[in-house]
Amino acid sequence: MQTKKTKILILGGNFAGLQVARHLRENLGSELAEITVVDKKSFLLFVPNIPLETFEGRDPINTLQLPLVPILKNDKTQFIMAEVKAIDPDKKTVDILPSERPGSALDTLEYDYLVVALGNRLAYDRIEGFSEYGHTVTDPYQANKLRHYIEEEYQGGPIVIGSARFHQGTNGKLDFIPISLAACEGPTVEVALALAHRLEELGKGGAKNITMFTPAELIAEDAGEKVVAQLLEIATKMGFGYKNKTEDIKALTKEGIEFTNGESLEAELKIIIPDWVAHDFMQGLPICDEKGFVIHNLEMRNPDYPEVFTAGDAASGTVPKLGAIGHLQSYIVARQIAKDLGVMSAEEADAELYKPEISCYGDMGGGKAFYIHSDSYYGGDLQLLKMGRSYYDMKVAFKHQYFSTGGKLPHWQWKLGAWISDKI
Ligand SMILES: Cc1cc2nc3c(=O)[nH]c(=O)nc-3n(C[C@H](O)[C@H](O)[C@H](O)COP(=O)(O)OP(=O)(O)OC[C@H]3O[C@@H](n4cnc5c(N)ncnc54)[C@H](O)[C@@H]3O)c2cc1C
Repeated sequence: MQTKKTKILILGGNFAGLQVARHLRENLGSELAEITVVDKKSFLLFVPNIPLETFEGRDPINTLQLPLVPILKNDKTQFIMAEVKAIDPDKKTVDILPSERPGSALDTLEYDYLVVALGNRLAYDRIEGFSEYGHTVTDPYQANKLRHYIEEEYQGGPIVIGSARFHQGTNGKLDFIPISLAACEGPTVEVALALAHRLEELGKGGAKNITMFTPAELIAEDAGEKVVAQLLEIATKMGFGYKNKTEDIKALTKEGIEFTNGESLEAELKIIIPDWVAHDFMQGLPICDEKGFVIHNLEMRNPDYPEVFTAGDAASGTVPKLGAIGHLQSYIVARQIAKDLGVMSAEEADAELYKPEISCYGDMGGGKAFYIHSDSYYGGDLQLLKMGRSYYDMKVAFKHQYFSTGGKLPHWQWKLGAWISDKI
């Protein structure tokens, strides 16, 4: 007699969602569960390499899209291209609007297990003057606009690069997760370094043109005070400007940028990393904190709705919003559901629970990259900063390997990568 398959619904098919789907299928085999991934687009966008592609003069659309359908088909995982409109954790349903053709009717999916891996909304629409005067690197469209501006229009004037203030929730927050004023500042440092190199190549200036700013006391504070002190020393010697405690961005104007602390900077080019804001339909859900991020315990499971899991930027405990943290969470989710379904022992599934660390490779231009590995933000004592060609090679190799394995890097390989980077 055939027993009913467990219905597992994964919302979001980028880093966190794809990784959960692939490792779940590996853990569960093909008979036990019907796994479905819902995303409004049918490819993974390899966001962390957008700055690298941009400042090496390439269009990220050509190099950073990984089609989801063939990968999931191979895994016997269903893919639905649709926009998630609502989640009802009490009824265990999700409302979707299929996004392949305009005019679709709403549909409702049921689940036994739900994994919320929908990332967040990058809130450029909350920054006054962004659409007229702002630039960024967080998607290929904006990155291409920036690339063309630098190559064709930039007049050699002052450049500012930095973050709007992040608004983190506190309800249900894990004790060891600090309150952060910026969602993700690795890109600020990476863009500043790589852009300086690109300007030199184009004969349009270099580090001296650029000021980095942060709403916080310290830029990239999650990397640890020692690492930030080293970074700032190097950046100052190179000629970069630095402004901290800006509080938030008040407005972008033709002339420059105004901060809510009353200060301002003159700037021809303003490159902005925005606030990461939860999707509108997440606000007010009983699985979310007061800002709309999904509350979870160390198993990445919602304490009140134990069949609801989360991974990646959508999770309240992902601070900063870093793909590397989402990766670690995805392995956990895939093991916890396997435990629930009786195909993995509690001992094996619980051997690694949520213990975040910062692991980040950032392009510096000229075939070099920096590598940060740190857990001091969460109470540990690891604080490592390295720079050189090997880290650039690791960053590029990671993307190639990610694409060739269809996002299914074995956990041991992930750990080996960090071990090698630490030891080089
Ligand atoms: C410029 C930049 C550089 C970065 N560099 C690094 C780095 O070097 N290292 C690192 O670890 N991290 C880096 N990050 C952070 C990293 O990109 C994110 O942490 C990561 O993308 C989060 O993955 P995710 O799957 O949780 O969310 P996302 O990547 O945001 O994916 C969410 C998915 O959900 C889908 N979705 C959203 N809403 C809906 C909806 N309503 N219906 C259906 N589908 C929906 C989206 O289409 C998307 O596919 C960088 C970020 C930026 C912006």
